[in-house]
Amino acid sequence: MGSVSEYFSSLGYGIRSLLKGMKVTGKEFITPKLTERYPENRTQHQWPDRFRAQLKFVYDDEGNHKCIACGSCERNCPNGTISIESKMVTTAAGTKKKKLVKYFYDLGSCTFCQLCVTNCPTAAIEFDNDFEQAVFTRSKLVKQLNYLPEKEEPEPTPEELARIEAERQAKIAEAKAKAAAAKSAREAAGEAPAAPAAAAEAPAAPAAPAQQTKNDAAADDKKAADDANK
Ligand code: SF4
Ligand code: SF4
Repeated sequence: MGSVSEYFSSLGYGIRSLLKGMKVTGKEFITPKLTERYPENRTQHQWPDRFRAQLKFVYDDEGNHKCIACGSCERNCPNGTISIESKMVTTAAGTKKKKLVKYFYDLGSCTFCQLCVTNCPTAAIEFDNDFEQAVFTRSKLVKQLNYLPEKEEPEPTPEELARIEAERQAKIAEAKAKAAAAKSAREAAGEAPAAPAAAAEAPAAPAAPAQQTKNDAAADDKKAADDANK
């Protein structure tokens, strides 16, 4: 008899638990959703500007970027995520400068710390919020950020070359003139202490009479010898 009452008691407990669970489920069924319905909402959703998905170059409308290949971002990246190839070119002004060749960024090792962006002196890079970056191989995570062809540095015209050469020659002449002036000044400064030295040697002049006396004595000895021979 006891086992029958226990059976119905357990059955009642099971039914109450079931209804309790159904109540929670029913309540959540009609509650507005808090989770994102990705990827169905990918065209409507607005991602925050501060969201950092991947690094990118800032290009203007003419396809120019502001990277000067200084390497600051590469040096400040704690993970070796950035790799820059550059070359030296001669500008139209006749000066040498670095020019970017390739800018590589490995999304797979980036920790999105943004040190590269904050240390860039020309604001040439920034983060975008395009987070859909899934690929099948790690090698595809290495991206060349300067994806547009690099524009060649304009060659100096013959007139500019002539002007550069004239400026160079003028600088050389100016440097030579400065060096000559400095040399003259040094020599002038060096002669001043030499004068007292000459004065110090002046007392040696009486040596001449001594030499003369010695010569006279030798002449007297010779004369005496000649007289003796006679
Ligand atoms: S965000 Fe940080 S880890 Fe990523 S490339 Fe820039 S400096 Fe390196
Ligand atoms: S992105 Fe900025 S910091 Fe990096 S090399 Fe270019 S100019 Fe320098």
